[in-house]
Amino acid sequence: MSDKILVIGELRDDEIRNVSFEAIAAAKKIDANAEVVGLLLGSGNIETQGQSLIAYGADRVIVVSHDNLKTYTSEGYGQAVMKVVNDESPTGIVMGHTSIGKDLTPKIASKLNTGLVSDVVDIEDDGVFVRPIYSGKAFEKKVITDGITFITIRPNNIPALDKDESRSGEVSSVDVDISDLRTVIKDVIRKASEGVDLSEANVIVAGGRGVKSADGFKPLYELAEILGGAVGASRGACDADYCDYALQIGQTGKVVTPDLYIAVGISGAIQHLAGMSNSKVIVAINKDPESNIFNVADYGIVGDLFEVIPLLIEEVKKVKV
Ligand code: FAD
Repeated sequence: MSDKILVIGELRDDEIRNVSFEAIAAAKKIDANAEVVGLLLGSGNIETQGQSLIAYGADRVIVVSHDNLKTYTSEGYGQAVMKVVNDESPTGIVMGHTSIGKDLTPKIASKLNTGLVSDVVDIEDDGVFVRPIYSGKAFEKKVITDGITFITIRPNNIPALDKDESRSGEVSSVDVDISDLRTVIKDVIRKASEGVDLSEANVIVAGGRGVKSADGFKPLYELAEILGGAVGASRGACDADYCDYALQIGQTGKVVTPDLYIAVGISGAIQHLAGMSNSKVIVAINKDPESNIFNVADYGIVGDLFEVIPLLIEEVKKVKV
């Protein structure tokens, strides 16, 4: 029997998250000859989204639409995924290492009595999976010797394939009886959030306690906007109430790997570095030349952020116009 890799896609606000496209590329890296089957879970008319997975390399797509899948619950999604896994018997499963991926995949792995390699940042030849350990201070390389090749991939590390609208493939619906849920989500009240999703942003402008106030963050938002990026923060800034904890990056916050990370008034505590040190290019702005952030920075600006950021905004605007 030929290999088949199931890619569990994720929808957010009816849009497929970019990491789902990256997961298709990961499936191809695991086995270029395997059939890649996309899976989309949600409610309403989500079948139309299936074509995007095909454009990014899936061979066919299975859609499970059910009222109980409108909002993520591990039980509801677990029942749907298990039905599809039992029907399809994949040799591999790939999902994004997102909040949902982190919650769902260990449960599925346990039900399947198989292993799981989580938070993969690279796939080498011969199925060697690379993942950070000790808060990003080291990497381990793992191979799966038995059972289903089940992995989650960290967003922004394995590039998606180029979109090819001319690709075609079947998008089919599967009925799953999703019942007996012990938890039903009645309503989700969102905090207002605008702009680019932090965990998938290519550019992040992150502020620390050095920014000194919520108002001090305004220029950071302006810089992030003109760079097409998102704003993040250290825990110091969140603890000081300059911004929401949803922006916290680090060991107890989000782990990010953007192309460009601009750390503004952040000292570079080990717990902060755990969430951003794998960023591709790090720029640090800090008035203290001895600050630890300069030890991980590719480019450092020693200066007062309140002088540097406006100058940076001015210069970036010139280049962007
Ligand atoms: P500070 O350390 O106070 O640094 C502020 C910096 O701003 C200084 O370097 C200063 O030189 C600079 N500065 C001040 N004024 C200016 C100016 N005008 N211009 C330029 N630079 C200026 N932290 C995280 O970030 N994320 C985590 O997930 C996290 N998890 C943690 C988990 C645990 C269990 C623990 C114990 C701690 C955790 N922390 C985390 C906290 C961490 O140890 C640090 O306390 C925190 O990162 C410090 O934030 P900061 O760099 O913004 O503040």
